[in-house]
Amino acid sequence: MRETVNIALSKGRILEEGLPLLARAGVVPVEDPLTSRRLVLETNRPGVKITVIRAQDVPTYVQFGAADLGVAGKDVLMEYDGDGLCELLDLGIARCKLMVAEPASLASHDDPRAWTRLRIATKYPRTTRRHFAAKGIQTDIIKLYGSMELAPLVGLSDRIVDLVSTGKTLRANGLVEVEHIADISAWLVANRAALKMKRAAMKDVIDRLQEAVGHNA
Ligand code: ATP
Ligand code: MG
Repeated sequence: MRETVNIALSKGRILEEGLPLLARAGVVPVEDPLTSRRLVLETNRPGVKITVIRAQDVPTYVQFGAADLGVAGKDVLMEYDGDGLCELLDLGIARCKLMVAEPASLASHDDPRAWTRLRIATKYPRTTRRHFAAKGIQTDIIKLYGSMELAPLVGLSDRIVDLVSTGKTLRANGLVEVEHIADISAWLVANRAALKMKRAAMKDVIDRLQEAVGHNA
């Protein structure tokens, strides 16, 4: 029986930048995932399938073997608390930065070196708490699922921890970057058991992606 390799991707940026990369690796879905409503797509390569799920769910699918491979942002991986996941390859796509931001009016007289306790709105509570705890700064965290940049405008918190690429959204809401937490890009992750059980089929896809990323660089 042919081994199947199921690759989990998320709609949005990862799919938009991941599809061209997969195509360069010789993996092309038979239907367009950007328009199809189907969540599991066959590809031109027999046995290789693409599953489209929420970005935050990719590590869960891969950890539990519902997908053999996955493409997930480093932000999502840093926040995820699980094992059985193997981070294989930096794909260099969906690049951005995880930053602390605050209103420009506050930044004009704020000194991050004087921080001892912060109230922060973010989609990344674990990563945020860990980052500040390592510097001896306490955090009161308000967990949000999106539109973090609204929080200071409506008085939820002065500061936010969010992804920034161009900084346009921050600026449009009167916010400025005050601290860099991490450089982010999407990584190829694998289920540890599948790497052993389906070695040949997995290696073929991984090698192709590695090659495609190399050409990209
Ligand atoms: P959903 O829309 O389902 O709530 P999401 O907001 O996490 O999920 P995306 O906005 O597509 O979905 O983000 C997916 C991944 O893309 C993020 O985890 C991050 O790694 C990357 N990403 C997010 N925002 C940016 C950005 N502004 N620039 C570059 N990459 C980004
Ligand atoms: Mg988003």
